[in-house]
Amino acid sequence: MMLTVITGGMFAEKSTELLRRGRRLKRAGKEVGYFKPSFDNRYSENEIVTHNNERVPAYSLDQALTLKSFDWIVDVFLIDEVQFFDKSIHSAIDYLLEQGKTVIVAGLDMDYRGHSFGITSELMAIAEEVVKLKAVCAECGSDAWVSFKEENGQRLQLGTNEYTPLCRKCFNIRRRAIEDEVF
Ligand SMILES: [Zn+2]
Repeated sequence: MMLTVITGGMFAEKSTELLRRGRRLKRAGKEVGYFKPSFDNRYSENEIVTHNNERVPAYSLDQALTLKSFDWIVDVFLIDEVQFFDKSIHSAIDYLLEQGKTVIVAGLDMDYRGHSFGITSELMAIAEEVVKLKAVCAECGSDAWVSFKEENGQRLQLGTNEYTPLCRKCFNIRRRAIEDEVF
């Protein structure tokens, strides 16, 4: 009965860590279930797919409250791309924890401007465990801090090709260079 948040930028291997934990708990005899928002169908409708092309079957949900209806078959809820769920994710997770479930979520901490995602940061605050993973800065090789995107666009835009993992220092250099256009 515990909430874990796996967070960080793109390319930080959050989904890989989510699947690794799921495999372990399944080996320990738990009924594990994978979930993701239906909004995120960039690789597959009914699977979570990592950047290394690992895949597991996943329920694709239109709204977070539907999670509650799985409480009779699932012990461990593994939820990917949690930042894209609606606000009802909070009451759904509260309910599951009250039922004695284990909940492990993975999600982006920040958008490409370095602003926090509300859903993820609120879950980080109430979690027993927060795991913040880091990609490698594409400019200097330090730990990345943010997933930078060059052009102006929608905050929720999916697909990772246009994103670059950057450390805070390299992010600030890039930001200063284009400040008038985007920020
Ligand atoms: Zn850097």
